[in-house]
Amino acid sequence: MRYWAWFAAKLAVAGSVFWGLLLVISRIFPPEKEKNPLAPLGDGAKYLLCDLALMLWFLLAAGTLYLIVRDQRYRCRVCLRRLRMPIETGSWSRILQFGRPRIEYICLYGHGTLREDELRISGLTMAEWEPHSEDLWSELCSSGKENGVEK
Ligand SMILES: [Zn+2]
Repeated sequence: MRYWAWFAAKLAVAGSVFWGLLLVISRIFPPEKEKNPLAPLGDGAKYLLCDLALMLWFLLAAGTLYLIVRDQRYRCRVCLRRLRMPIETGSWSRILQFGRPRIEYICLYGHGTLREDELRISGLTMAEWEPHSEDLWSELCSSGKENGVEK
């Protein structure tokens, strides 16, 4: 819940900033009140500047949206901190032995692991978030018990 609230807050802030910028652009380039039917593009340079400003606004808005989604993707689902320590796993040359190449990110406070494919051709595979239990020592000890190390 907190994860999506933070995402919505970032979108709301960016939306209000870009809405304000759009109001500034519309104030700088007000709509024409009297249209001359003989010369509809009489002030062509003004139209060109308005179009350039709108194009720049759109590029900035699309880039900001991309950065917001990208930033949100690499945040911990519990504490919202940035995920760290990317580790490459798997191998293309030994795919049957180690699996497909993937990149794993972890939360430094042990809340979970994000696994995503190294190569995303179709874009249909989403990154997998695996939450960890609160007790780090129980997870460490259980992995030792599965391998038969602890007896
Ligand atoms: Zn965390």
